[in-house]
Amino acid sequence: TTSDLWRQFNRSFVYMADLESTLYYSMRVEMASHPVIDGENLRSLKQYISVLAKFFPGRTVVRNSLISLDKWLSDQDTELSYSSLKNVLDNTAQVPNAAFPDTEMWLACQGSKPHFRKYPCGMWTLFHVLTVQAKDAAIKDRQEVLQAMRSYVHSFFGCRECATHFEIMAAESMSQVGKQNPPELWLWSRHNQVNNRLAGSLSEDPQFPKIQWPPPELCPSCHGVKANGEHTWNLEKTLTFLHFHFSSERLLSDYLE
Ligand code: FAD
Repeated sequence: TTSDLWRQFNRSFVYMADLESTLYYSMRVEMASHPVIDGENLRSLKQYISVLAKFFPGRTVVRNSLISLDKWLSDQDTELSYSSLKNVLDNTAQVPNAAFPDTEMWLACQGSKPHFRKYPCGMWTLFHVLTVQAKDAAIKDRQEVLQAMRSYVHSFFGCRECATHFEIMAAESMSQVGKQNPPELWLWSRHNQVNNRLAGSLSEDPQFPKIQWPPPELCPSCHGVKANGEHTWNLEKTLTFLHFHFSSERLLSDYLE
C-alpha cells in the first residue's frame, strides 16, 4: 500500500504537501467529529478559517477555496452542521479556480511508524508558517494568528491532553506578545518547551528525536554560550532564521501538481 512507501525529503525544508495535508485532516477528520458546531466552537472555526484565508501561502486554487469558505462562514450566525460544512468543501470544485486539498500525503511530517508524527507535526508547521506570513500584515493585531491557533486547539484539536497543555502556556504568556515580543518567537519558544517535556516519551519518534530546535547544523548563529558555559539563544538571529526557514518563497511543492 502507499502507506508503506517512504517519500524522500530534505530535513532542512518545509513542504507544502504537509501544510495541505494538515488542512485536509483538520477539515475532513477533526471537524467531522463535531456534528454540530456552535457557540465558542463556531467562533474558533471562523477565526481559524479567516486567518487561513488571509495568510495561507498556498496554491491559488487552495487559497481561493479558503477565501470562499471564509465568505460562506461569515453568513453562518448561530450554528452549523458538519454536513453543511462538508458540502461546501465538496463543492469548492464548482467555484472557478478553487479546490480544497482532497488527500493526506505527509512528507517532512512522515513518521517511522503509522502512529508517529503526521497531523500534530503538520499543525505546528502550519502555525509557524502562518506567524511568519503574518509578520508584516499583523501590525494592528499581533496576536491574531496565535489567538486563532489557541482557539482552534481549544475547540477542536483531537489530542485533548495537548490542548490542555497548550492552553496553560497560552494563558500564562500569550497576552505579552506584541511589538517587543513577536508571535514567531513566542511560538518557537513554546514549541521548544513542549519538545523538552516530550523528549524520551512514548510519543517521540526515535527517527525524529525531540530536540531544542533549530539545532546548530541548521542555524549555527542561533546558538551562543555564556561566560559560565551555559547555552543561550541569540533571539535576533533565531527570529531571522524563522523568517528564512518558514518563508513562503522557500516552501517546496514536491509531490504536488
Ligand atoms: P513536532 O514537534 O511536531 O515538530 C514538527 C517540526 O517542526 C519538526 O520536525 C521541526 O522541523 C520543527 N520544529 C521543532 N521544534 C520547533 C520549534 N521550537 N520551532 C519551530 N519549529 C520547530 N504531544 C504530547 O504527547 N503531549 C502534548 O502535550 C502535546 N502537546 C501538543 C500541543 C500542540 C499545540 C501540538 C500541535 C502538538 C502537541 N503534541 C503533544 C504533539 C507533539 O508536540 C508533536 O507534534 C508530535 O509528537 C510529533 O513530533 P515531531 O517529531 O513530528 O515534531
